[in-house]
Amino acid sequence: MSTVMAGIGLVKKYASATALAGVDVEVRERESLAIMGPSGSGKSTLLHTLAGIIRPDGGQVLLRGERIDHWGENRLSALRRGRFGFVFQSGQLLPELPAEENVALPLMLGGVVRKEAVVRARRWFAPLGLEGLEQRRPGQLSGGQAQRVAIARALAVEPDVVFADEPTGALDQATGEEVVKLLTSVTRQQGASLVMVTHDAEVAAHCDRIVHVRDGRITRYSQYTVTP
Ligand code: ADP
Repeated sequence: MSTVMAGIGLVKKYASATALAGVDVEVRERESLAIMGPSGSGKSTLLHTLAGIIRPDGGQVLLRGERIDHWGENRLSALRRGRFGFVFQSGQLLPELPAEENVALPLMLGGVVRKEAVVRARRWFAPLGLEGLEQRRPGQLSGGQAQRVAIARALAVEPDVVFADEPTGALDQATGEEVVKLLTSVTRQQGASLVMVTHDAEVAAHCDRIVHVRDGRITRYSQYTVTP
């Protein structure tokens, strides 16, 4: 399977901590990769470094073989907008916009005109079990529905890679399970790769591979047979 992204020898140091102490990691075509580990182990720093949000102090980040870690901020921000999708724990939807416009927003930021962006956004509602909720404001959605809207928003730009940071962290177990199943399956159908940070083994088990992080280092990989 070919590699979409790679981190090579990634180092990130803060005054009080070494968040990444030399991490090598690859993200393969169409796979879902979970980053697991205890709090403070460097999971979020690794995800944000791969996603071009945090600039590493050492090492390289490659996207389809091209080095991106030394790109300028404008170029990185265009890359994040056009080729990456993001799902965070919660609170990422704009409360004043209907769900469909929240999903359309990254498309509009990428230059698609509003009407066309909303048409394209609406296509994601059925696959994510959100039919009929297009006009709802985020405050009128349950936590699980809001996360599914966030997934639609991440996928609407048809990204190469979706980055998810504790996407089930604010949900109860059953809802989290439902959301992670949709996130992994719809991302795969779309042909994108998924990189997901979680501290929850049951959530990670939905991914194709799991990388275990501790003290800024990868300690091991594990692999699961994909359960649909
Ligand atoms: P995790 O996601 O596994 O909880 P993080 O990547 O958030 O871990 O953090 C790894 C380490 O780096 C921790 O010791 C954390 O305190 C530190 N750290 C992360 N971000 C910052 C920051 N912006 N400033 C200072 N220290 C940070």
